[in-house]
Amino acid sequence: MNEEQAFAAVKKSLKKRRYEHTIRVTEETERLAQRFNVNVEKARLAAILHDYAKYRPVEEMRKTIKEENLPGNLLNFGDEILHAFVGAFYVAKELNVDDLGVLDAIRYHTTGRANMSNLEKVVFLADYIEPGRSFAGIDEVRLAAETNLDKACFLALRNTINFLVLKQQPVYPETFEAYNDYAIVFK
Ligand code: GDP
Ligand code: FE
Ligand code: FE
Ligand code: FE
Repeated sequence: MNEEQAFAAVKKSLKKRRYEHTIRVTEETERLAQRFNVNVEKARLAAILHDYAKYRPVEEMRKTIKEENLPGNLLNFGDEILHAFVGAFYVAKELNVDDLGVLDAIRYHTTGRANMSNLEKVVFLADYIEPGRSFAGIDEVRLAAETNLDKACFLALRNTINFLVLKQQPVYPETFEAYNDYAIVFK
């Protein structure tokens, strides 16, 4: 799967606004990959495909999780996290991407996880800070991302957890595990 094929596949699967987000995430991912010595080709491919499953019907995603033995606990943390895990599965199955690092970057782009690879971190972070985003506290994350990949991931995870707690939403356990990785580093 080359980039041209990947862009064509997501262009078909995504709405215009989401496709434009994907282009910005890909450009942001490239900047971060160069800055933090991550394989640019793999990082860009993961970024292009990261939201591949964003518009699949929730019922289809839930069915895939049950039938394909994806982690059952995914079903209990809100529908927003499903597209990342199911997306990695569909990208492997439908687009024949077999690079496990690329698939993990897609799988963990929403929740993060403990011990993320730098490839996972740059896609996770680019999705959070791409120029079209305007979350509370994002400037601090963008500033950290200029020099310190782990600190930027920490701040993004902290902000996401704070946001979810304020809304009384459940937080996926691996998001806490990712946060704890860096909270210990930055204490
Ligand atoms: P997008 O697909 O480009 O919009 O970005 P993401 O894949 O990062 O999805 C963002 C959504 O997932 C946001 O609404 C987050 O609040 C939500 N989200 C991220 N982590 C978690 C989590 O651990 N639990 C829950 N319930 N939602 C989460
Ligand atoms: Fe996403
Ligand atoms: Fe994200
Ligand atoms: Fe995204």
